[in-house]
Amino acid sequence: MNLSQLANPRILDQPVYQPGKPIEQVAREHGFRPEDVCKLASNENPWGSSPAALKAGAEALKSVFLYPEGSGLALRQKLAQHHELDPAQFILGNGSNEIIELLGHVFLKPNDEVLVGEHAFVVYKLVALLMGAGAVEVEMPNLTHDLKAMREAVSERTKLIFLPSPNNPTGTANTTAEISAFVSSLPEHVIFCLDEAYAEYLDDPFTLVPFVREGRKVMAMRTFSKIHGLAGLRIGYGYGSPEMISLLQRARQPFNANSVAQATAIGALEDGDWVDLCRRRNRAGLEQVTEGCAKIGLEVVPSQANFLLVKVGDGKKVFEELQARGIITRPMPPSLNEFLRISIGTEEQNERALKALGSVMKERTTDS
Ligand SMILES: *Cc1c(COP(=O)(O)O)cnc(C)c1O
Repeated sequence: MNLSQLANPRILDQPVYQPGKPIEQVAREHGFRPEDVCKLASNENPWGSSPAALKAGAEALKSVFLYPEGSGLALRQKLAQHHELDPAQFILGNGSNEIIELLGHVFLKPNDEVLVGEHAFVVYKLVALLMGAGAVEVEMPNLTHDLKAMREAVSERTKLIFLPSPNNPTGTANTTAEISAFVSSLPEHVIFCLDEAYAEYLDDPFTLVPFVREGRKVMAMRTFSKIHGLAGLRIGYGYGSPEMISLLQRARQPFNANSVAQATAIGALEDGDWVDLCRRRNRAGLEQVTEGCAKIGLEVVPSQANFLLVKVGDGKKVFEELQARGIITRPMPPSLNEFLRISIGTEEQNERALKALGSVMKERTTDS
């Protein structure tokens, strides 16, 4: 009997998440210096983290011989001020991906269904499968979540619904009116989870807070990985009713959010100017890349986030050819194989990526 035969059979069938390629690996494989590789693959903040937040993190580093405060009270208090809720309505995660997993642990049983859009962020489906639940995928016309169709797909078995708005990888968002009507229409046995990973990029983001206050079965998730520029620290959070949060706390490991991450996140929340600056820069970057693509003759999916889905034809080929030029982007799954996802970089990085993309597309048309 080999080791794998001892594993839970579900694990052997579990699809594996494909992260963006690291800079060092691409540098090694293609003979670049790491500093000459341009990574536009994981929707990170190209301007980095708030300097004030990093200072707070460096200070916290002095105390890393101590365990973190287990419940992350100081950060939860800061979040409570930020969202005008109670600290007991927040849970911290090792990235907001961990909150998705906690929702799975707490609520999913075999035979339960998780409802997602067909082009939604893939982690919801991975967590559903890991827990032995089923993932029901609803079509997304125009690459946008169709909340009417999702409402129709709700069954007796539906337990969790995940809605990322804006969504990754499509960049599309739903309106406040759409989401409100959808949440209000859901039956008692369904939990609605809003993934707000890119909410800070919106001018006027939808907020679940009124629904949380009403005592609805809802949960929202946010992350410090995107506009706050702290992806490497792994810190995110969820908010919901005190009952929701205390259920999730039961499934959480004792010190899941580390002390440096907690302190840095507090610093990041205190530096609203940095967030505003990065939002404005991102908007300019979206315009720059959209216009640049139009000049090359490429369509993009209008995005409300910090990345663009570009229609390049053979997404995988163009990904490889860009990578050979030192530009890392993100290839898409088969259902989006004509597209490539490009994160918005600094003005200079965008310029370089557009130039490379232009030359790749030109070579491809002359070759064929
Ligand atoms: C990046 C991202 C997250 C956040 O991941 P972390 O685990 O917090 O780094 C969550 N949801 C979506 C849709 C994302 O794109």
